[in-house]
Amino acid sequence: MNVERSESNNANPYDVAIAGGGLAGLALSIQLVREGYSVALFEKETYPFHKVCGEYISMESWEFLEELGQPLNDWNLPIIRKVLISAPNGASIEQELPLGGFGISRHKIDAALAVFAQTSGVVLYEATKVMDIAFEKSLFHIQTSAGNFQAKVICGT
Ligand SMILES: Cc1cc2nc3c(=O)[nH]c(=O)nc-3n(C[C@H](O)[C@H](O)[C@H](O)COP(=O)(O)OP(=O)(O)OC[C@H]3O[C@@H](n4cnc5c(N)ncnc54)[C@H](O)[C@@H]3O)c2cc1C
Repeated sequence: MNVERSESNNANPYDVAIAGGGLAGLALSIQLVREGYSVALFEKETYPFHKVCGEYISMESWEFLEELGQPLNDWNLPIIRKVLISAPNGASIEQELPLGGFGISRHKIDAALAVFAQTSGVVLYEATKVMDIAFEKSLFHIQTSAGNFQAKVICGT
């Protein structure tokens, strides 16, 4: 993925900096640029990357993720309607899930959100680890592995 570099400075800080590009940081970044804020998102890894996760997302998130530009209907995702718990002795119980969910890897969904965030105007710094944050003279000063940045607000996600 291309990384757009646009260093901020004291005279031109980002409105919001976000440290951490998981589901929370990516979703927040898209919502903030839509509201007209300038947003920098720092992620220490490079998309796409794997995360330990059960890969189950509750159906209540479907509409929200579609609003965030994710074409879930086009991805032919497995729909999960029941849970089965088994014991080593072979006994098991099975239960319908009232709402259910769908299966998707973080490798796919995080990277898709990252592409959409960039397209929406988020300045995405991949392979960039936030090392330190200090508040001084009304601005947050963010020290990262790729340089120093300034922002009016910072969110740790
Ligand atoms: C084993 C396991 C299984 C799970 N299974 C499920 C499941 O099936 N369904 C479900 O809905 N939830 C599941 N979860 C929970 C789910 O993973 C979390 O709720 C979700 O990841 C939280 O998203 P987040 O954006 O807050 O954090 P994360 O997804 O953890 O994102 C944080 C991001 O910040 C980055 N980062 C960290 N430090 C820095 C730094 N200093 N500088 C820059 N970047 C940094 C990380 O690389 C990461 O990408 C599971 C969790 C675990 C541990």
